Amino acid sequence: MVHALRAAGIRDEGVLTAMNAVPRHLFIDAGLASRAYEDVALPIGHGQTISKPSTVARMIEMLVVPIAPAQRRQACVLEVGTGCGYQAAVLAAVFGEVISIERVRALHEAARANLRAMRLPNLRLVFGDGRLGAPTAAPFDAIIVAAAGDSIADELLTQMRLPSRLLAPIDEGGRQALHLVERTGRDVWQLTKLDTVRFVPLRPGTT
Ligand code: SAH
Repeated sequence: MVHALRAAGIRDEGVLTAMNAVPRHLFIDAGLASRAYEDVALPIGHGQTISKPSTVARMIEMLVVPIAPAQRRQACVLEVGTGCGYQAAVLAAVFGEVISIERVRALHEAARANLRAMRLPNLRLVFGDGRLGAPTAAPFDAIIVAAAGDSIADELLTQMRLPSRLLAPIDEGGRQALHLVERTGRDVWQLTKLDTVRFVPLRPGTT
């Protein structure tokens, strides 16, 4: 998989090492396990999907590149949309602390079960609506949203440390584009639209 990720343009050695360290087959159904190392999104139940490895690696790379390698183990990242917990595990291998929020209780619990054997003391799973962020753990050195909404909640923008980055797919009337937000001042958030992506929808509340 790492070979394919290098070919796809991933350069950061910390991200490549983390992708290599997390066994993706542990996060999907046995029936799909033979496809675990293909660069495809796969169903994880409840109408949700595990993201493509190249998408996970590229998004995490964009978030860590501005953080000096020596600082990464002090950095705290927020993930919205735990799903099966795969990306959360990769984040925990890159950042010092990870808070990951999921709104579907059954997935939150499945992620907990999937992650148990990996024993990641720096990863905290939270059941709730991730659009509200995690105010008690804020500010974050990076925020990654794994589901597409029609905007980025103010709660997430104000929980960004200064400076920091947030990545979120935004639905623009049926087409999704990945957006990068860079908080460069107390009241300055710079928005850059990146390429077309496909994520499941960001939904309000919990279930
Ligand atoms: N990070 C996952 C991707 C999961 S798919 C991976 O490693 O592959 C996106 C997830 O976002 C789904 O599980 C969905 O239930 C969740 N989600 C959607 N809206 C949400 C919200 N408001 N708060 C938290 N999670 C949300």
